[in-house]
Amino acid sequence: MIRTAARLADGREIIYFDEGDAPRDPAPDPRGLPPSATGSEMRFDPLLREWVVVASHRQGRTHLPPSDDCPLCPSSDGRRTEIPASSYDVVAFENRFPSLVADHGRVLEDVGELEHTRRVGAGRCEVLVFGSDHDASFVDLGPERAETVVEAWVDRTRELSALPGVEQVYCFENRGREIGVTLHHPHGQIYALPFVTPRTRRMLDSAAEYRARTGGDLFADVLHAEQKAGLRVVARTAHWTAFVPAAARWPVEVHLYPHRAVPDLPALTDDERRDLAGIYLDVLGRFDALYGAPLPYISAWHQAPVREGRDLARLHLELFSVRRAADKLKYLAGTESGMGVFISDVAPEAVAERLRAAAP
Ligand SMILES: [Zn+2]
Repeated sequence: MIRTAARLADGREIIYFDEGDAPRDPAPDPRGLPPSATGSEMRFDPLLREWVVVASHRQGRTHLPPSDDCPLCPSSDGRRTEIPASSYDVVAFENRFPSLVADHGRVLEDVGELEHTRRVGAGRCEVLVFGSDHDASFVDLGPERAETVVEAWVDRTRELSALPGVEQVYCFENRGREIGVTLHHPHGQIYALPFVTPRTRRMLDSAAEYRARTGGDLFADVLHAEQKAGLRVVARTAHWTAFVPAAARWPVEVHLYPHRAVPDLPALTDDERRDLAGIYLDVLGRFDALYGAPLPYISAWHQAPVREGRDLARLHLELFSVRRAADKLKYLAGTESGMGVFISDVAPEAVAERLRAAAP
C-alpha cells in the first residue's frame, strides 16, 4: 500500500491509501474554496457530567445529493468533488463541515462551580471514503479493500492520537438512510475527540471495579464466557470472535472482540488485521442476509483513550441495527430516550441463531 498526503484548496489535509505499489502524484485541487466556516462549541452538562457538542454551522451541509453531484465521487474535468483525483482506493480527508475544529479548546464561558461550561469544540473530524464506486457498500468491497480500510483506520488512529489535546479516536460508519446518512457513497468517519466519551468512561470504571474485586480482566472474562457458552457466538476465526452480547440493546447487535488484549487498532499484528477484514465482511454479509435487504447499521470502534485506562480497555467493535423486522424500525422512545433503559423485544440468543443461519 502507498500512502500519499496532500492539501485541498482550503488547506484541509487529504490522504490517499492506494493498493499496489505505484506512487501517486497528487493533483492540485483547482476549486476556489473559501475557508470552511466553523463555530463548534462543547457545553458541559453538570448533571450527567458529559460534554455536548453544538455544531450549528453543520445545518448547511450537503444532504442526500443526487449521485451526479456526490462530493465523494472521483473528480472529472467537468465536475470537481472533494477528492481531486480521477481514481482512488481509500481516501481520508478533513470534513468540510466538522463537528470539532483545530483549537486548544479555549474556555468561552466559565460559570464558576459548574466547571467550564462552554469551550471551543476542539478536535478533528475526518471522512474516510472506502472506494470510488458510488453504489457499493462495505460488504461489496472484498478482502483486499477491507484490509486497506483497516490499514487506514490504523494510520488515522496513530496520527490523530498524536495531536495535542486529543483524548480518544473514534472510527465509525453509519449506513443507511434510516440511520440518518446524508451521503450514500460508501464512507465512514473518524473523530479525534478532546475528551473520553461517556461510554468509554463507564466501561473503564466497570473494568477497574472488576479488577479490584476479582483481579481479572473484564473484557477477557466476557469474551471467554461467550466462547464457552457458545449460544450467542455468530462467527469465530483464529484471532477474532463475533457474538451477540447477552444484554443486547438493539434488535440486531454484534460485538467483535480480538482474542488478544490490545488497546487499539495500531496494536494489532498484520495477521490480526487480515483476519479482521475477513470476519468483518462475514458479519456484514450476515447482516444483509437477515432480511434479504441491505440492513441499516452503525459500526462503532471502541478504542482505549490515548492517555488513560490503556491497561483496562480492550479494542472491540460494536455493530448494531435499528431494524427489528423487515418493515419495522426500533425507535428510542420513552424508556430509552427518557431514562436510558432499553427494552428489547427479541431474545439475543434467537438473534445469534438467525445470524449463524444467515449465510451471506
Ligand atoms: Zn459518490
